[in-house]
Amino acid sequence: MSKRDDLSPPRRGIIFILSAPSGAGKTTISRAAVKAIAGIEASVSLTTRKPRGGETEGVDYRFVSEEEFRRNLDSGELAEWARVFESSYGTPRAPLENAVAAGRDILLDIDIQGARQIRDKYRDDAVTIFVLPPSFTELEERLRRRGTEDETKIQHRLNRAREEAEAYPEYDYLIINDEVNDSIARLEAIVKAERLKVARLRNHFAPWKN
Ligand code: 5GP
Repeated sequence: MSKRDDLSPPRRGIIFILSAPSGAGKTTISRAAVKAIAGIEASVSLTTRKPRGGETEGVDYRFVSEEEFRRNLDSGELAEWARVFESSYGTPRAPLENAVAAGRDILLDIDIQGARQIRDKYRDDAVTIFVLPPSFTELEERLRRRGTEDETKIQHRLNRAREEAEAYPEYDYLIINDEVNDSIARLEAIVKAERLKVARLRNHFAPWKN
């Protein structure tokens, strides 16, 4: 955190939610953002899907069995959850609530269904951001380039992406991901402005009384 940010009065942590159609480049943005933007950490979701090449347990996800996922869900340990592409995904509740209470900002890379749940539960602390690709042709190319899914799955993801894109008006901010560095700069601008909102101050701030 820069010196200037240290001068800010104590405030609650902010939950930044990043949603996007599959292949819009959201994971690239969220990973880079956590490195590039001071004072923001990534939430690590639980998922029942199998790890892809290059993914690390406990960093990208906590990869769990259906039974373990169910146990977490039943004991109320998930702040939100959803079924996406035949797998279950969920955000652990304790790390999220602890971050907000301690004034730390946290970034959630979750789908629309999850974003709606978080927004309903943590209205005052949540900021929702939607990422769209510049076009759907571009999206199709990105999905193919990624090479992690077969043709049926790609078509499935593309259909779903078109449906999901229509949800963007529900969000607070929209980032068109034409160039990753520009997108990160836009995200950083959102983060910095949100941190300065008066409504987030933990206590009444009255320096003129000192
Ligand atoms: P992927 O399998 O490509 O990593 O993720 C598929 C989708 O699930 C993405 O849209 C991603 O944002 C979403 N997702 C990842 N973690 C969570 C989570 O904890 N909750 C919800 N609702 N969606 C998630």
